[in-house]
Amino acid sequence: MREEYIRGSALSGETIRVVNPATGGLVGEVPAGGKTAVAAAVDTAEAAQAGWAKRDPRQRGKTLGEGARIIRTQTDALAALLTAEQGKPLREARNEIQGCANVLEYYHSVSGSVRGECLPLSSYGLAYVLKEPVGVCGAIIPWNMPVLIFAWKVCPALVAGNSVVVKPASSTPLTTLRIAEMMEAAGLPEGVLQVVTGSGDTAGAALAATPSLGHLSFTGDTKTGVEVSRAVGNNGVPVTLELGGSDAMIVCRDADIDAAAAGAVAGRFYNCGQTCTAVKRVIVDASVKEQFTRVLCEKTAGIVVGDGSRPGVGMGPLNNAPARDDICRMMDACLSAGEGTLLCGGGIPDGAHYEKGFFYEPTIVADVPGDSVLLKTEVFGPVLPVISADNLDDAIRIANASRYGLGASVWTRDIKTAMTASSQLDAGIVWVNQHLRLPPDVPFGGVKASGTGRENGSGAFEPYLRSKTVIVKS
Ligand code: NDP
Repeated sequence: MREEYIRGSALSGETIRVVNPATGGLVGEVPAGGKTAVAAAVDTAEAAQAGWAKRDPRQRGKTLGEGARIIRTQTDALAALLTAEQGKPLREARNEIQGCANVLEYYHSVSGSVRGECLPLSSYGLAYVLKEPVGVCGAIIPWNMPVLIFAWKVCPALVAGNSVVVKPASSTPLTTLRIAEMMEAAGLPEGVLQVVTGSGDTAGAALAATPSLGHLSFTGDTKTGVEVSRAVGNNGVPVTLELGGSDAMIVCRDADIDAAAAGAVAGRFYNCGQTCTAVKRVIVDASVKEQFTRVLCEKTAGIVVGDGSRPGVGMGPLNNAPARDDICRMMDACLSAGEGTLLCGGGIPDGAHYEKGFFYEPTIVADVPGDSVLLKTEVFGPVLPVISADNLDDAIRIANASRYGLGASVWTRDIKTAMTASSQLDAGIVWVNQHLRLPPDVPFGGVKASGTGRENGSGAFEPYLRSKTVIVKS
């Protein structure tokens, strides 16, 4: 499978260097594929799709189940590779690899639900609805959770009988390539899953502009999502967009403060703050603000920053230099304009071993004004602004005053407060007394500038199937 695109891309001789974000060292090199590589991959995927579609959905699911088994036997090696290319600590990388295997197993378990339906019609006879695959699907993946998001997109498409062409992020293609190989070893026919490495503006743009796609699923920045949406729209290709977020975490006056502070630390600093549904703004009831921020800062101070492959490291570097530079610029602008009070962090950590990597300290800024860049844009790194609110209504008003609407959480001991907030928050998912957990059984996606469409959950197959109604005269 990959031989094909490697040969195609190698003709141009161009490669993409994958760099370890903790050390700046070279982890690997992949072909810089472009239009030609994408066109070749789509052709191969098209040729392979019919045979795959003939298999029973349960059989297709079984292949994913076997893929999960193989992935689990290689968890440590895959996690080490993921840490090396992405930067996250090994513990988080293992979680992601296991999360990927969980998703494969989940789609194996629900594969039997891919089926049509039969409708007796009293006056006409009988109708039945066939569920057919849409053909070749495209999947464009970001670098923050490359393996998990790969599984979210690829699994429902494959179980539905489609073939898939994947474009991983340029900085994190390596673990994805390994996992795709394991899925082939599990019995996925050659050609059904294609991975094309290359930059977003060449390979990504070419995939988004492919008119023959049955569906394209994109996860990434909202700005890129708009471009992708325009490109697929020109060809009438249906699209799912999972875009940026600025999740609010509301801490009510009756919340368990210690649990909320721990939730904020995990929710913000997991993956060095580079999670679409990370806690990006804390809105705390003014009556408990002092107590909450004190515990929050104590817990944050305990995070060990360093090379994720080292034991005991709680937070690795950002994935790439531009991402780290964006955070530096944002924080400098915010602090020099006197926006907020810096409670901890606020810069690149001191020490020679931080110099070659893309590190930034876990940072907390309190009393951030509503028009600050930290609240108006998606902060994709380890910076947590804390704002206080007079009451729940005020907190919900602040939470909803964002162009984004991906996730949100409310922390309270009162079920009525939880339910009121959940119904009033503009978000695709609301957690109560937790933040971040996303099992594959639940639908996931955003509203407003956070995207359209849902992944996972019971509707996960919908974008990947088309209905054909057959009416038979009695
Ligand atoms: P980008 O939008 O920069 O990149 C995402 C993917 O799109 C990459 O594979 C990239 O390739 C590719 N790409 C870039 N430009 C184009 C283009 N013009 N046409 C087609 N493809 C293109 O996002 P990041 O990788 O920086 O990821 C971070 C963003 O993703 C954040 O905003 C985050 O919130 C969001 N995200 C959303 C999630 C959700 O489910 N809602 C989940 C995870 C992340 P290349 O790497 O080569 O540039």
